[in-house]
Amino acid sequence: MREETLLVHAGRHISDDYDFVNPPVIRASTVLHKSAEDMLNRAMHERDMIEDKIPYGTYGSPTHHAFYKALCALEGPKAKGAWAFPSGLAACTIPLLAFLKSGDHALFIDTIYGPTREFAEEILKRMGVEVEFFPPSVAENIASYFKPNTTLLMMETPGSHSFEMPDVPAIAKACREHHVISVIDNTWATPLYFKPLEVGVDVVIHAATKYIGGHSDLTMGVVICNEETWPRAYRTIVQTGQTTGCDDIYLAYRGLHSMGVRVKASTESAKKIVDWLLTRDEVERVLWPALPTDPSYPIWKRDFKGATSLFGVVFKEQYANQLAPMIDALKIFGRGYSWGGYESLLIQSYGTRNQTPVPFERMVRIAVGLENPDDLIDDLRQAFEKLRIR
Ligand SMILES: *Cc1c(COP(=O)(O)O)cnc(C)c1O
Repeated sequence: MREETLLVHAGRHISDDYDFVNPPVIRASTVLHKSAEDMLNRAMHERDMIEDKIPYGTYGSPTHHAFYKALCALEGPKAKGAWAFPSGLAACTIPLLAFLKSGDHALFIDTIYGPTREFAEEILKRMGVEVEFFPPSVAENIASYFKPNTTLLMMETPGSHSFEMPDVPAIAKACREHHVISVIDNTWATPLYFKPLEVGVDVVIHAATKYIGGHSDLTMGVVICNEETWPRAYRTIVQTGQTTGCDDIYLAYRGLHSMGVRVKASTESAKKIVDWLLTRDEVERVLWPALPTDPSYPIWKRDFKGATSLFGVVFKEQYANQLAPMIDALKIFGRGYSWGGYESLLIQSYGTRNQTPVPFERMVRIAVGLENPDDLIDDLRQAFEKLRIR
C-alpha cells in the first residue's frame, strides 16, 4: 500500500469493531476473564501484546494496538514495536532509561530539544551517566566522539530552533559499527518525509502532540523501535508503568488518518509564506532546510521526501530585541508554543544552551497551519508595520 492509503487503513480491523469504521474508545483498567484457565493463559502472555490476550488496562486496549500497528506500518519493515507516552518529552526520556546505566557514556546532538537536554544534564548525570554533546555538522567524524563505554547516541533533525540537519545515515552507520544504540527525535519530518529506521537508526520518537494529533487537543509522544531495541524498550515501558488513556489514543489515531493532507497543505502554504518573507527588507534569513540557499539543503534533498511547515525567521540586526510590538500586533497567528496543529502559531525564539550561536534576540519561529496563506501573509504584513515605527 502507498502511504496515503496506509494512513487511512493501517491498524484498522473493521469487522472486530461491530462493523463501524472507527474502533471504540475503551476506558479500561480491568479485563474480565472467561475462566481460571483464561486468567492463567493471559498472565503467561502478559507482555506479548496479543490483542485478545490483554490481561489488564496498562497493556493497552485494542484501540491502542491499532494505533501502534499503524505507526509501525508507516515507519517501514524494520519497525518491530511502538508505544505511546503521555507527552512527547516522556517519549524522549523513557527510552534513555531503557538503554543507559551508571558508567555509560551518552552522546547528544547539540541542537536537541531543550527539555531533553535538561533531562540528560540533570537526571542522567545524577544516574552516573557521562553526557556529552556533539555539533550537528559532525557526520562520519562522530566516530571520534566514541569511547569504549559509549552506549547511546541521540539526535534530532532538524535541530529545534536552529534547523540544522545532521547527516543521519552517516551517524547511524558509525553507531552500528561501534555497537552504539542510535535514537532520533523525528517530530519535524513525520514518518511521511523521513523514515530513520530505513537508514539504520534503532529508535524513532515523535511528539504526537504535533502533526500526528494535529488539532492542539492532546499531548502524546510515540516511540517506534527496531527488532534489536524493542524487547529492552518494552520491558522498561512495562516496568515504569507507561500508559495513556484511550480517549487520547483515539484522538491521535484519528489525527493520523488525515495527517497526509494536513501536512501537504500546510507545507504548500509555508512555501508561499517563506517566499513572501524573503522579499521583505526586515528579514535577513529564513531557516528552512527546503530552501536551496539553506546550509542543510543538500542533506535534506538527499534524505527527505518533503519539508513540514515549521521554520525560523532571522530579522536584520537593527531589529534585535525589537520584535515584541510586531508579535503583539498579530491577529490570525496565535502566540503559542507547540506546532503541527491546524492553526498557525508564532513564537519569539528563546535562548538555549546550544554551543552553536544562533541570534535568538532577533528570531521568531513560525508554524503554518491550514488557514488561507494569503490571510496569513496579510496578517504578517500588517504586523511588520510595527517594526517600522522605530
Ligand atoms: C514538542 C516537542 C517535543 C515534546 O513534546 P511534548 O508533547 O510537548 O512534550 C519533543 N521533541 C520535539 C522536537 C518537539 O517539538
